[in-house]
Amino acid sequence: MQITFPHMGDMAVAVKALFQELGFSVVVPPPISRKTLNLGVKYSPEFACLPFKINLGNFMEALDKGADLIVMGGGCGPCRFGYYAEVQREILQEMGYEFSMYVIEPGIINNIRKIRETFGPLPFRKVVSAVRLAWNKARAIDEIYKLVLEKRALEVEEGLVDKLYAGFIRKIDETMSLDEVRRLRREYREKIEDTSAKYKRGIPLKVGLVGEIYLVLEPFVNLEIEKRLGQLGVMVERDLYMTNWLLNFLHLRNDEKHIRRAARKYLGSFVGGHGIDSVGNTVRYSRRGFDGVIQLGPFTCMPEIIARSILPAVSKGEGIPVLTFFFDEHSADAGIQTRLEAFVDLLERKKRQRMKGLEYKGEIVYGQ
Ligand code: SF4
Repeated sequence: MQITFPHMGDMAVAVKALFQELGFSVVVPPPISRKTLNLGVKYSPEFACLPFKINLGNFMEALDKGADLIVMGGGCGPCRFGYYAEVQREILQEMGYEFSMYVIEPGIINNIRKIRETFGPLPFRKVVSAVRLAWNKARAIDEIYKLVLEKRALEVEEGLVDKLYAGFIRKIDETMSLDEVRRLRREYREKIEDTSAKYKRGIPLKVGLVGEIYLVLEPFVNLEIEKRLGQLGVMVERDLYMTNWLLNFLHLRNDEKHIRRAARKYLGSFVGGHGIDSVGNTVRYSRRGFDGVIQLGPFTCMPEIIARSILPAVSKGEGIPVLTFFFDEHSADAGIQTRLEAFVDLLERKKRQRMKGLEYKGEIVYGQ
């Protein structure tokens, strides 16, 4: 059995560790590239969302490398994610690929029987140690990346923090020791926080990132928006991390009540995907004094389209500028960079006015 899964940010490191520790061999799909995108676009329905197309490209590249079991997320609710896996399965089978597919369902109970059927009997101790190792890797990656988002905006030597992060990812990927994961987490936290690395002083602009999870987590599809913001001197924070999502997806935590409460004034019901989170978190970022919010979504993503139609009211009501980007396979660097620079410029002017004790009278733009 050769297992594969979709690429999403650096989470391949933790997922790979989980299956390897369980004794399976893993085919990590090649890093997302133009080729992945072209493959996905060519064989997907035209109006499928961008993550669907990229995942399909991931699977084709991994199946070509010998994978024969695809692990994919499933779901329910008023968005297309719930039937992604089924449609992808049919497309790949029609193309002649031979494989099986395991679709992860929401909640732990729903998965227990299916796991046994797909992977065979797994010794309990082995499962515990594999889950513990993968979870610790995932937590470490999220924790260190959170720091990267904070410190990138302050670095004097451009690229220093990214270089440290790349080293951290390489080392954490190589190790299968839990103690070593914990040590690397401490070591790299200290290295990135180290003041001798000469971070700039001052309070940078702070922007909250909201939107559809795949677009937020995968730098290839969002055209490295977080790095671009860091290079413009903007500190980025987001609520969406793989570990947070997983805890909520498996019903081990419920962050939704805070988000729903924050969103209630503007949106009272679940609209699928992360639509309500985009609204609720924009309100929360505003209340925490952030300078602006950026929403990311795939073109044709209904939950984010609904959120976008509400965000101008949130922006006005809460006094926070909001910029929206919808991405598809034609999105290009130049367009995003120009709009980001204009947005950051606006946030700087607004901040200067506020520091002078004046109310910002300029126009707050909402854009795509
Ligand atoms: S949340 Fe949006 S992008 Fe994701 S599956 Fe649903 S409609 Fe598609």
